[in-house]
Amino acid sequence: MAERVVIIGSGPAGWTAAIYASRASLDPLVLEGAITEDNRQRGTLPLGQLALTTEVENYPGFPAGDLSAYLDNSIAEDKRRYMAPHAGEGVSGPELMELMRQQAANFGARIQTDDVVSADLSTHPFQLTTLDGTQIEALSVIVATGARANYLGLESEDRFKNAGVSACAVCDGALPRFRDKPLVVVGGGDSAMEEATYLAKFGSTVHIVHRRDAFRASKIMAERALAHEKIQVEWNSVIDEVLGNDQEGVTGVRLKSTLDESESRELEASGYFAAIGHTPNTDFLNGQLETNDAGYVIWTTAGRTNTSIDGVFAAGDVADDYYRQAVTAAGTGCMAALDAERWLAANGFE
Ligand code: NAP
Repeated sequence: MAERVVIIGSGPAGWTAAIYASRASLDPLVLEGAITEDNRQRGTLPLGQLALTTEVENYPGFPAGDLSAYLDNSIAEDKRRYMAPHAGEGVSGPELMELMRQQAANFGARIQTDDVVSADLSTHPFQLTTLDGTQIEALSVIVATGARANYLGLESEDRFKNAGVSACAVCDGALPRFRDKPLVVVGGGDSAMEEATYLAKFGSTVHIVHRRDAFRASKIMAERALAHEKIQVEWNSVIDEVLGNDQEGVTGVRLKSTLDESESRELEASGYFAAIGHTPNTDFLNGQLETNDAGYVIWTTAGRTNTSIDGVFAAGDVADDYYRQAVTAAGTGCMAALDAERWLAANGFE
């Protein structure tokens, strides 16, 4: 029998959609993603981008404080056992995501730890195929697969993730390790300008490393960054290596010129932020949903989560290249569940 709602993705959008759909008695099935080496490498493991961050200080409802007892009481023991010990300073990204997952499970959402590898949205019920070969029929689908930050792909970047390497200044910039220390941002677009300007609040100097001699960023954002006394641009340069050690994490970067073969040079830094764009996780859709030029799924009705295919809704970062915040993703997840519920009712699906 066809599922009424299948939710693909397990970030804040997916879990919020699952909470709302469960409470609406739609008995949703959540495909939270598979635990594979491939997903680890790409940053697309279950629980999404937040599971890759440390403290989350801007999600409403979780002020600084010791949540240990709350976490012990709220999250199933078999999950809690594998979580890092609580830091005692408010909620962390992984904790927040486990809490959301648990909340969805408590209301009866069924969770399958599997990836959707292909979808046929040209027939109804929609046909989904998962990595382990399961075929699923769905009357409605909520795509909440998020986006992944682009990294340069250096081995040293991977080694120091969560130890000074980040792709989210808003998430991580205020951490003590970055305070009053030199920091590095790589990229030349609006994201790099935004990250650098934000990080300049905390770091002693922010080096923007850009591979050309002109920014791609909008004039106003580039000018703001260039005028900032703490921001210094390393033009015509690429990162050859992120430097560091197991005790301190990132300690600097090695730069290479893009103009000539001149000797590489090193910059001291306690943080390295990749700002070279994000990629929405839409491969499995194989171009069936309308997207914008950057590949993000488009909402075809203003203020609603409807996509170009009737009965398919999109929520969170997969449909948002602008706000990209946990709380906005959760908000659109709620919207998608309500939209799906109303669509099912309007189309006579019990
Ligand atoms: P983007 O505009 O695609 O810029 C990516 C930057 O990273 C470019 O400067 C690019 O260099 C550089 N880059 C890409 N791959 C690289 C590599 N392998 N090595 C070194 N450098 C590399 O991406 P974005 O900055 O994330 O912006 C995405 C969209 O979001 C844009 O439309 C932007 O306007 C929007 N956005 C808006 C705001 C805002 O208005 N507040 C903030 C953030 C983002 P090249 O220039 O040489 O190609």
